[in-house]
Amino acid sequence: MDEQIRIALKKIFRDEQLSEDVPALIIYSRDLNPIGTIFTQQGRLMTMPDVVVWPEDIEQIRDLVRLANEYKIPLIPYGSGSGVCGGANPVGRGIIVDMKKMARIRRLDAYSLTAEVESGFIGELFERELNSKGFTLGHFPSSIWCSTVGGWLAARSAGQLSARYGKIEDMVLGIEAVMPDGEVLKTKVTPRSATGPDFKQLLVGSEGTLGIITAATLRINPYPESRRFSGIMFHRVKDALEAIRELMQTGIRPAAVRLYDEIDTFMIGSGKGGKKLLSHDQEDEHVEDLKKVIMKKAERMVLTVPAVINSAVRLLPANNLLILTFEGKSDITGVEQSIAAKIMHSLGGKDMGEEPGKYWWEHRYDVSFNLSPIYSIRAFADTIEVATTWDRLLPLYERMREAIGRHAVVMAHFSHVYQEGGSIYFTFAASTYDESRKEGIYRETWKDAMDTAIAAGATISHHHGIGMLKAQWMDKEHGKAMEIYRRLKKIVDPNNIMNPGKMGL
Ligand SMILES: Cc1cc2nc3c(=O)[nH]c(=O)nc-3n(C[C@H](O)[C@H](O)[C@H](O)COP(=O)(O)OP(=O)(O)OC[C@H]3O[C@@H](n4cnc5c(N)ncnc54)[C@H](O)[C@@H]3O)c2cc1C
Repeated sequence: MDEQIRIALKKIFRDEQLSEDVPALIIYSRDLNPIGTIFTQQGRLMTMPDVVVWPEDIEQIRDLVRLANEYKIPLIPYGSGSGVCGGANPVGRGIIVDMKKMARIRRLDAYSLTAEVESGFIGELFERELNSKGFTLGHFPSSIWCSTVGGWLAARSAGQLSARYGKIEDMVLGIEAVMPDGEVLKTKVTPRSATGPDFKQLLVGSEGTLGIITAATLRINPYPESRRFSGIMFHRVKDALEAIRELMQTGIRPAAVRLYDEIDTFMIGSGKGGKKLLSHDQEDEHVEDLKKVIMKKAERMVLTVPAVINSAVRLLPANNLLILTFEGKSDITGVEQSIAAKIMHSLGGKDMGEEPGKYWWEHRYDVSFNLSPIYSIRAFADTIEVATTWDRLLPLYERMREAIGRHAVVMAHFSHVYQEGGSIYFTFAASTYDESRKEGIYRETWKDAMDTAIAAGATISHHHGIGMLKAQWMDKEHGKAMEIYRRLKKIVDPNNIMNPGKMGL
């Protein structure tokens, strides 16, 4: 790092608030986008930052932004690095601004049900502090143990109970950020407003390109007095989606709605304790054989022949598990659950009792972390989340499964639904014995998936954001609006110091 910058940084930060140690620089060279993991497997390094800093207050961030403008050095805001699109990766040089030291609830208004919280708070710790006071945020991304409030806002996160509580952008009432000129933007906290464009929403989803979010006022909720669970089995994804649409359009707001397609149902039912989840009454010998093959998913070979596995899926019993949970006042959740049961039954759903839902609730964070072992057998896995309206959802599912299935073993679940549509979450895994082909297969899978989503009229991201991974599709996603974003970026950040190289800017 330039000596002048080092001297200037030391005027802002104490020694323990910055690091140029090589292990730190390596760790902060990547988020959890699989390209970083593939590089690590292959012994390759990603682009490293010059230095990592841990600011403790807004004044230090303001000074840092002024320094960055003076020396034209990029700043990369960093929450927990759990992003999966390369959003927190340095491009060229830069200073990583790790926000985790700013992690306080500044104000909790139990009367209006709002909390002002600093952006570096780790999700699980924030939720626990709210719980201890009788509240919940209602935001439960699978990464809650390793993601921050600022990262959620910057990447438009969605939690597992989004059907009831909404996505993070629905919960934010006010935002505080240090803008690229070093000035502080603090929006008014209000339930709604009719005073022109909603400027807080400019920062939500901007992935660090327009400023550093330092705090936000979020809607909180009373901790639910009751929680109810339902499991329903459908033979066809189509019928299950129809049942969910009807449920959401009836006006009922379940907390979680998760529909697993055949292979995803099979995978969760085959896990530890999965027997409790599913009755395999329709299984025959072929299924047992297939299970042995797929359950040896630790075997790399299986993942080198995705076409075979994807067609073998046709042998699976036509089981698509839907999990519903309801929470809130006990008498209300009771009514919601029984109306939902009638809708499910009318569309051919078989009631599996509360066990599948309870089991899912107890293990709701496990599954994402099960992707890691795939890397230890030198394969790779990733997830793709797209969304569209109900009329296009099933065709989107079929086309994308086909597109991704050309390169990888693919499964899907539908886990965020609304009155007007929903999102699909594809998980894919693949491998090759030719290491030099790995990155290529990964990128080809994404290209086919994104082109298919665009052609089908879907949005290319429901909650993981854009980062570098999906940047090349931003023009097709936004059309004219992308030009406005580029102009805005030039005006508010003329020196391009805020997280350059991201979002297709
Ligand atoms: C196992 C696993 C499960 C996941 N499950 C979910 C899920 O259920 N739902 C979901 O939505 N996501 C999920 N994700 C993705 C990820 O957790 C989210 O994108 C999360 O919002 C990122 O938060 P973070 O604090 O780690 O941000 P980072 O990865 O550090 O950063 C993400 C982006 O936001 C920017 N940024 C971070 N903090 C700030 C700030 N204070 N101001 C301005 N910009 C900032 C960064 O520059 C970067 O562009 C999962 C990831 C993993 C690894």
